[in-house]
Amino acid sequence: MHNKTIAELARGLRSGAYSSRELTGVFLDRIKQNQDLNCYITVTEERALEAAERADARLASGEAGPLTGIPIAQKDIFCSKGVKTSCGSKMLDNFISPYDATVVEKFHAAGAVLLGKLNMDEFAMGSSNETSYYGAVKNPWDQNAVPGGSSGGSAAAVAARLAPGATGTDTGGSIRQPAAFCGVTGMKPTYGRVSRYGMIAFASSLDQGGPMAQTAEDAAIMLQTMAGFDAKDSTSVDRPLPDYTAGLNDDLSGLKIGLPREFFGAGLNSEVAARVEAAVDEYRKLGAEVRELSMPSLQLSVPVYYVIAPAECSANLSRYDGVRYGYRCADLTDLYTRSRGEAFGAEVKRRILIGTYALSAGYYDAYYLKAQKVRRLISEEFQRAFSEVDVLMGPVTPTTAFGIGEKTADPIEMYLSDIYTIAVNLAGLPAMSIPAGFIEDKPVGLQIIGDYFTEAKLLNIAHRYQQVTDWHGRIPQGFE
Ligand code: GLN
Repeated sequence: MHNKTIAELARGLRSGAYSSRELTGVFLDRIKQNQDLNCYITVTEERALEAAERADARLASGEAGPLTGIPIAQKDIFCSKGVKTSCGSKMLDNFISPYDATVVEKFHAAGAVLLGKLNMDEFAMGSSNETSYYGAVKNPWDQNAVPGGSSGGSAAAVAARLAPGATGTDTGGSIRQPAAFCGVTGMKPTYGRVSRYGMIAFASSLDQGGPMAQTAEDAAIMLQTMAGFDAKDSTSVDRPLPDYTAGLNDDLSGLKIGLPREFFGAGLNSEVAARVEAAVDEYRKLGAEVRELSMPSLQLSVPVYYVIAPAECSANLSRYDGVRYGYRCADLTDLYTRSRGEAFGAEVKRRILIGTYALSAGYYDAYYLKAQKVRRLISEEFQRAFSEVDVLMGPVTPTTAFGIGEKTADPIEMYLSDIYTIAVNLAGLPAMSIPAGFIEDKPVGLQIIGDYFTEAKLLNIAHRYQQVTDWHGRIPQGFE
């Protein structure tokens, strides 16, 4: 059962081939047997079994939806009522959320079964899952390699079949990059499409939640439940929700694909480039037209991001003061300084320092304001590209998954692993990462970027590729 997709599991549940109680039991057992991957921070076993029983009753009554009875796992950035929500930090190690994030509530309402909360980089700051207070996550394809980050627990759990689907969040690549490193399908929706209410804030103008699963079809099923207007999130967009599964098989002939030259320059591993080019060739066979284009401002995205994201994080994380909730130091002199000093990890502190500096009176114009202007240029460049082509394609990451410990000493090296993903967040666009091959047993991802609110089209494009390839169906050795 654990190998099946969400769509297949839903059919099995409906036909009565197995119950949600049985299915949930299978995943809970697998989670226990594979604890050394360190994917889960919290396993909600009892709740899961209760939820599965409720789902079975709902299935029996004929009122089930596509996610009823399906076990899923939440990145530990989504607040879940009565369950520890740590955001990968010592700061929130004692935090039991008093409410559900909108995304969590929507999965509950759909009858999905919460298996637990997934490991992640601390406050979603990282590209390797190594900044987590709960330790690194291992990549199921190579246990000496990182799974990517910050949604590393989510990607590894789906790849190792410890959950058929998981949520992630993507501020600069945190859904797409780990999806690529672990060989799963991930989507970062348009900014505002999925509610951020109850999703712990890192950089509010960039953060966006999305689905991670084996296939585009499963991502579509999950997105259908996750997306939609939410009055509790002031940046949520009030726009009708399309049917994300309806057009999955639409014909791709005449699709115009653009390849930004800047995505294929120095720094890109030549074998990764070859896999991406082979994937683009598949699209040619499916009837797409491919052309190159130039987007010179893309190269500014990493420096711009590392002004804007830390600036927003320094403001967002000021709420962790040791007084209201979260970690409080034992010695109450200098409460604020000590609590923050003792509970935040090195990367989070680095970001708060950079952000506070960039926002300070003397430097605001030189850094923050300048970065906002370049951000605008990047968005405009994407809009120009979308006046010529329907979608952009390129690599997700310059290399396959790197070794645990390999980049921890050099933050800039680490930041550069998001070089192809960050511009999308700066512009607020939707994008996917889909499995597109392997290099020495390590997965390679293809990135597909669309114009605002074209999630249905992206899912269609990804699904058609998955009908003619089987990369997404491969399972790491030992997890079959
Ligand atoms: N790796 C990037 C960072 O460290 C992006 C993280 C994310 O998307 N949450 O900020």
